[in-house]
Formats: sequence, structure tokens, C-alpha cells
Amino acid sequence: MATTVERAGTPGSRQSTAAGSVLLQDSQQYVRDAADILEISSSLFNLINESEREITVTLPVEMDDGRIEAFTGYRVQHSRVLGPGKGGMRFHPASDLDEVRGLAALMTWKCALLNLPYGGAKGGVVCDPALMSTAELARITRAYANALAPFIGAQIDVPAPDVNTDERMMAWFRDEYERRIGRHEPSVVTGKPVALGGIPGRGESTGRGVALVTVEMLEKQWINPKDARVVIQGFGKVGSEAARRLHELGAKIVAISDVSAGLYNPNGLDIPRILQAVHCRPPRLLREYLSDDVERISMEDVLTLECDALIPAALEGQITGENANDIRARVIVEGANGPTTSEADQILTERGVAIAPDILANAGGVVVSYFEWLQGLQGNRWTLEDVRKQLDAEMRSAVNNVFRESERRKISMRQAAYLIAVERVAQAVSLRWSQM
Ligand code: GLU
Repeated sequence: MATTVERAGTPGSRQSTAAGSVLLQDSQQYVRDAADILEISSSLFNLINESEREITVTLPVEMDDGRIEAFTGYRVQHSRVLGPGKGGMRFHPASDLDEVRGLAALMTWKCALLNLPYGGAKGGVVCDPALMSTAELARITRAYANALAPFIGAQIDVPAPDVNTDERMMAWFRDEYERRIGRHEPSVVTGKPVALGGIPGRGESTGRGVALVTVEMLEKQWINPKDARVVIQGFGKVGSEAARRLHELGAKIVAISDVSAGLYNPNGLDIPRILQAVHCRPPRLLREYLSDDVERISMEDVLTLECDALIPAALEGQITGENANDIRARVIVEGANGPTTSEADQILTERGVAIAPDILANAGGVVVSYFEWLQGLQGNRWTLEDVRKQLDAEMRSAVNNVFRESERRKISMRQAAYLIAVERVAQAVSLRWSQM
């Protein structure tokens, strides 16, 4: 039977988007700055800066109407010096190689900062899950697992959820990989459903960590979290959980936004009600939420509202040289990866805004992925209580380490975080490469 293969996405979808390239260049600049302070040689810098391995795959996927579409997928293993590559996989129409490269590098620094026995990696599939059925999503996930199978494994590279991917997909991914290798290997992927080797609390972990870092950052600025006004951009897994947790801890969430709408109430939004209303009703968008005590504002305006803490928890490249001077937050906690460009970072730092960088602020997810990976390797079971206790302890200690380093050297928290992370990776590379 003749089949036509169509390439998904717009022509040129393999090329770079501006935000992806900026993210990559910015993260490399932060590493270069840290390397300068640490007096790392240029050859060592090149070793830790470049990706170790970059894989591009074409995924033929049968769509529900019988057509075969070809999707592009990437997996970049930036570093495996400290352990297997670790990092999520995102399904997004604007994903591209530069973005995945930059995100993979961020994972190296994030894992090193949190002292996890991992390198950094990231995956991306260029597709729009909002336009796909569940069966199509299952087939694309399985095709991706098959294509990556020779390059991944519990001791090689361990994917996890990221933007637009969830525990169902991790279950399909594990299943497909294990069918192929013919044996169990639960730790080939993390973020699985609890009934299939997942760990309690993985779903909430990134948002919970973001909330904890927000509280710590506010306290360091002498702001009582219970009096704090918080604005959150992005109401997906990370933003909605951070909102839920901060509301539970007594903070006032004055505005939230997602791709469909922005909601504002200067006296504080009723987060439990919004969560219930939005999450029970697909397509789970804020524009569906109707209430008299909520003012609708544009998604751009959410970022520039006056508040104590601003949590950008959507995508990269949201706070830029264009809007950095309009930001009226005292503290920024980066729930997303790369939400602030380096140009904006400089403007904000000069203005005295304290920023908890992505590699610190959103590390809760990969910390709990580590617990899940251990659970799979050891064949034991963690309770939700254990997970929360350990996660909180790891996050609190990382924030305090970064804060102390930034105070000691009189540098920003981002510079301090990169310094700690780059030093750990550089030291491991030197030990591996040194001639006896
Ligand atoms: N996607 C998450 C991140 O960017 C989690 C990665 C993981 O658990 O491996 O940190």
C-alpha cells in the first residue's frame, strides 16, 4: 500500500528560534564568567562547554487518519562527567536543536549545583500535543523511545517529563524501551506513574521547590512570606503547584497567567477555587475561569505588575532587555528554564532585584527524579513523607549555599550558582583527564 510521508511542522522547523539561541548563548556566557573567576584554562573550558553528544532523529508516526507524518526529535547529552545524562523531554512546536542544547547544558549545571550524581541532557520533539489525540501521543512517544534506545539507559542517560509531557508518556516510554531490551529497567526514565515505578510527590516536586525557594528568598529580603504579594506567569505543572503551595503557606497570589489569559485580584486570588475549576475542565485553561472578583489582564501585563515575588514559570525568553526596566518585583524566582535573558539579568541585578536562577529555583523536579531513579535501582519504596522531607532539605541547603557564596564574593545568586556548579564539573573533568 502506498503511503505518503509528510514532515510535521512548518518548513524550517529544524532551524533555530531566537529564544532557543539566546538561551544557549546566555548559559555559555554564565559558564565563561564562572570559568574566568575560577581561572579555568581555555581547553578545560571548551571541554565543559560543548555538548558531548547530539542526536537528531526522524520519527515516522501514523496519525489517526492513516497518514504517516515525520516528526523531528532531539536528545542532547551535554555532559556525563559526574554521572549519566539527566533531563526532561519536551514536546513543543517551537523546539529546536539550539534550545535543546542550551537546556541540556542547564541540566548539567543544575545537577552539579544540587550535587546529584548526574550529568546533563535534554530532549525535544517538534510537535504540538494540543493538536494530537491520545493515541497519536502514545505512538510519537513510543517512536521517540525506540529511536533513542541505543543512546539511553539507567547508567547512560535518563529522560523525564518537561514542557507538555507527563507521567502517561513516561509509562509508554518505559514500556517501549523495556520491550526493546527484553528486561526490566525502571530507572531508564523518571516521572513515571506511581503504579509503574514512579515515586510519590514527583508531580508536585518542581512547584514545591519553587515555593520553598520563594519563601527563602523573601525572608532573605526581610519580607514576611505571609504578607507577600506573588505573581506567577505560567499555570502548568510548575506554576500551578507553586501557586497552590504558596497559597497554602499564606502568601497572596495576586495574579496568574497561562497561554489563554491573565487573572488579577490585588487582594489575592482564590487559588484552590481556580485550581478546581480549571483542572476539572479540559482544555484546562484560565480563560475558562469566570468570576466577578477577578480582573482580566494581558499576559504581558502580568510580568510588570507591582509585587514582592515574580515567578516566571512558562517558557524561556520572557524577561528581556525590552521589559526588564518595567519589572516591579523585588524578588524573581525562575520556575521555568531560561526565562530571563542575560541582558535582562544585568539590568535587574543593577536595579537590586534578587533573582533565584533557574538552575537553583526549579531543581526540585530533578532532585525527586534522583530519588525515583534510586528507588528503581534499589527496588525499594519511598513514602510521600520521605520525599517531601528530603526534597525540602536538599533545596534549603542549596539556596543557602548559593546565598552564602553570593554574599562572600559580592556577586549575584546566578553567578554564585554557576560558580559552584562549574567548579564541581571542572574538577571532575580534570581528575578524569589528568595524566598520572
Ligand atoms: N524537566 C525538569 C527540569 O528541567 C526535570 C528533569 C528531570 O527530572 O530529569 O529540571
